Amino acid sequence: MNEGAQHLGEVTGKIEQAARAAGRDPTGVTLVAVSKTHGADRVRELLTVGQRIFGENRVQEAQEKFPALKAEYADLKLHLIGPLQTNKAREAVALFDVIQSVDREKLAVTLAKEMARADKRPDCFIQVNTGEEPQKAGILPADLDSFVAACRDTHKLPVVGLMCIPPVDEEPALHFALLAKMAARHGLANVSMGMSADYETAVRLGATHVRVGSALFGQRHL
Ligand SMILES: *Cc1c(COP(=O)(O)O)cnc(C)c1O
Repeated sequence: MNEGAQHLGEVTGKIEQAARAAGRDPTGVTLVAVSKTHGADRVRELLTVGQRIFGENRVQEAQEKFPALKAEYADLKLHLIGPLQTNKAREAVALFDVIQSVDREKLAVTLAKEMARADKRPDCFIQVNTGEEPQKAGILPADLDSFVAACRDTHKLPVVGLMCIPPVDEEPALHFALLAKMAARHGLANVSMGMSADYETAVRLGATHVRVGSALFGQRHL
């Protein structure tokens, strides 16, 4: 068994355990394998053992790796988890199945336009800056109600959930609980939260999507 496959088994097992401990059905948790900085060969290690959902944070890097893999594995699904510049929106709509980082009005407008143009509608998550960090992307909690309404009603984006990246120096559980509560309030079924260090906590608090990189692929070198 390759190293990636071994790590995948461990992470999947922990997700299942955390879900059961919280009284949740483990199939309600989607593991997004974050392959940024790792080559197509590492992605392939996981594809061969059944993993089909991957996350990348840069459009250009994903364009270099994934079109060939998608041609080979028709059910591969790719999530964009990093900041998206409006001038890359067209490429993002073409390549990604899910865009988890909708974080401002201008991007929502551009994505709506590009989706109409391409006649392709990737599911969207709204990224929430739960820690209200000035340098971090995402909608502030106080602005979320109006932003969700604008995305859904004005721009007609297929909004399916919320995503957050908690501050590194704070207890992530507080942020996960807040995000889950906000999603419930808006009737959004999906909550993307939890990374290698805290995905079990996120699952206990209701994550439907966990984004795990280094626990699967090892340390990033770039
Ligand atoms: C890189 C990244 C991850 C994965 O981080 P790990 O700590 O390696 O699991 C998750 N989410 C986002 C938005 C990322 O950029």
